[in-house]
Amino acid sequence: MSSDSPASGHSQSLPRVIPRAQHNVSRKQVSRGALKVLYGLKDAGFRACLVGGAVRDLLLGRQPKDFDIATDATPEDVRKLFRNCRLIGRRFRLAHVIFGPEIVEVATFRGTGEGDASEDRHVVDGRILRDNVWGSIEEDALRRDFRVNALYYDIADFSVIDYVGGIEDLEQKRLRLIGDPATRYREDPVRMLRAARLAAKLDFVIDAEAAASLHELGHLLTDAPSARLFDECQKMFLAGYGLASFRMLVKYDLLRHLFPGTVHALAHDKSGALLTLVERGLAGTDARVADGRPVTPAFLFAVLLWGEVATLAAQLLADGTVQSLAWQRAAHRVMAEQGKRVAIPRRFGYAIEDIWALQPRFAERTRKRVFRLMAHPRFRAAYDFLLLRGAESEALRESGAWWTEIQALPPDQVSEQLAPKTAAANTAADTGEKPAGSGRRRHRGGRGRKAAVPKSDSSE
Ligand code: ATP
Ligand code: MG
Repeated sequence: MSSDSPASGHSQSLPRVIPRAQHNVSRKQVSRGALKVLYGLKDAGFRACLVGGAVRDLLLGRQPKDFDIATDATPEDVRKLFRNCRLIGRRFRLAHVIFGPEIVEVATFRGTGEGDASEDRHVVDGRILRDNVWGSIEEDALRRDFRVNALYYDIADFSVIDYVGGIEDLEQKRLRLIGDPATRYREDPVRMLRAARLAAKLDFVIDAEAAASLHELGHLLTDAPSARLFDECQKMFLAGYGLASFRMLVKYDLLRHLFPGTVHALAHDKSGALLTLVERGLAGTDARVADGRPVTPAFLFAVLLWGEVATLAAQLLADGTVQSLAWQRAAHRVMAEQGKRVAIPRRFGYAIEDIWALQPRFAERTRKRVFRLMAHPRFRAAYDFLLLRGAESEALRESGAWWTEIQALPPDQVSEQLAPKTAAANTAADTGEKPAGSGRRRHRGGRGRKAAVPKSDSSE
């Protein structure tokens, strides 16, 4: 079963060239920017191919997220050809050609760099830290991660070229690494997350050998740069298949290397309420992506880390810390620990902490506090989060329903329904239980006041 040679076990001889008449990739599905770059390179005498996820997705009949191009032109050549071009990366030098909102990534064919002791390829403990050795198109295919990701669509004759058996894997809905899985994961541990993510996105099976190594080598992710892991988290959780990605990470025991606190909290979640909250949060985000609504990493991290922060806050409260301080301390601790694995940019950190800190405030239903909470810039996200917490208890479901109802009312009626201040309301814990005096009592004093009910979405 071992496949050190990417072509082994393959029925077709490789490379396999599939002429235009025998595949479904059409230029009509390729973005305007990508076509301009492909033709610009070709007209200047270079080889130019669409490659990677775009070819894979087009062959599967899916709309690609972005279009990557591989060429024998160097980044400098590309820059000379396109005015709207900038060179990026040191570890992996690339050209970006910019067409308004579209960025077309152009990479020069990479070689294996074997026997080459130059500065251009840097490997430490089997990990590739820099890869700027140019090579042939075939070598470029071999250094890619999965066989389905190493297909080329050649603009010269519109054929699809397969050097590694990618077509066969596409037909079998299977992810196989090119070469020995353990070696390829060691070279770049993030490929393990890509395996889980692509299996989720495409609904493919991870080949047995590639899957077995995930369990053995998952721990290598602890050495991966935390900023890169944040990027990968965004791709896993915010691209429309977050729930499927999460389940893959659980299945292959990779989640604990990214979110150890979450795995710990889930292991102690006897009722299953936390798992329900997390899965609903992810499914909700997927639904938003499907509807074309905006999504934010902040809400999702608030969901993933909730079990940990809620447990810690409860401990601090039990030890006598006052409520506001308990939540603040718990949030800081959880974020600091998590930041060692996944670098969550500060602006999202603030939003996450707000979403958590606002939760106990939903139990306070005096007029002043209700209006103040609804005017909070993060009210909407915190309210959406409260609804998710309905998984935890009947009291929280009731609280969610109450806040839903209040927001649907015109401001003057909101005012009418609320007590100006009651002792019970101020001492209500964060259980979401309905404090006494918060019922539909009419109070004359509040008539006609304007509520600042924010209309914004939870994505801010
Ligand atoms: P998506 O559709 O989600 O963008 P993708 O496969 O296109 O998935 P990208 O990150 O856009 O993912 O990468 C483009 C291509 O670059 C891949 O298809 C693969 O050929 C190659 N590639 C990306 N990351 C790696 C990696 N870590 N190791 C080897 N090759 C990689
Ligand atoms: Mg891509």
